[in-house]
Amino acid sequence: MFKNISGIPETKGVTLTGGEPLLRRDAAQIARSAFDAGLKVAVATNGTLLNKTAISELVNNGVQHFDIGFTDPGRETRLALASAVNSSCSVTASICLHGLNHRRTGMLTSMAAAFGADSIAINRFIPTGRAIRTGNLLQLQVEDLLSALEMANQTAISTGIHIYTGVPIEPCIASNKDFPGISFSTCRCGETKWAIDHRGNLRTCEQSSKMLGNLLEESLEDILKRNAVEIMKFRQWRPTTGCESCARNNDCFGGCRFQTGY
Ligand code: SF4
Ligand code: SF4
Repeated sequence: MFKNISGIPETKGVTLTGGEPLLRRDAAQIARSAFDAGLKVAVATNGTLLNKTAISELVNNGVQHFDIGFTDPGRETRLALASAVNSSCSVTASICLHGLNHRRTGMLTSMAAAFGADSIAINRFIPTGRAIRTGNLLQLQVEDLLSALEMANQTAISTGIHIYTGVPIEPCIASNKDFPGISFSTCRCGETKWAIDHRGNLRTCEQSSKMLGNLLEESLEDILKRNAVEIMKFRQWRPTTGCESCARNNDCFGGCRFQTGY
């Protein structure tokens, strides 16, 4: 499957993710297959199994980047971050901001910067899957999101660490003009980023349950051609009815497609 993906000229790399990818004993072999197919390889992990031995095995098999969940970092995760920054890999600390932890944004971003992470991804909580049940509790109010962004902005300015929004935030809520230390991203799914499961099924985004096709049976070009309308609808999604009359409508890519259900 990795050979199929690497044959596509625009493909830059693959991120092994989950669930928790390091629960698989063959994670390093999977990384090696991707690396041998000519892909850049990253691993997105909660860090609890990322000890020095695991880091060394993954690096020796071609892993170049670690994305470590840093939302509520316990001892193992803090050690994982400290060890990963001492490897040859670049390291991102990913923080999910939600209704119960947003006041800790300053502490979490400062800690990740002090540990030596190369970057911090701020991911606003979006209720999907089983989290829909706890959505109300974890949902972030706009004023809490803004105050969390201000804390992250202060960390970026005082430490120089690169902080960006992993899950996009609509420009009518916040932008780089208000928080100059933060890079604001847009959703790239269905354009330059795709989700592929272990059976080769392709989806527009990892949060989407809709299978577009199987890469072991069909080429990416054919799958994309067959699903062109569906993918266009996904990309053009807008969160509010006010979007139609918004002056930014033409150049706004909205927030996460699953924010209010897609
Ligand atoms: S188009 Fe919609 S989401 Fe984008 S800035 Fe305007 S109101 Fe906000
Ligand atoms: S739809 Fe949401 S979860 Fe999927 S890539 Fe876009 S922002 Fe991320």
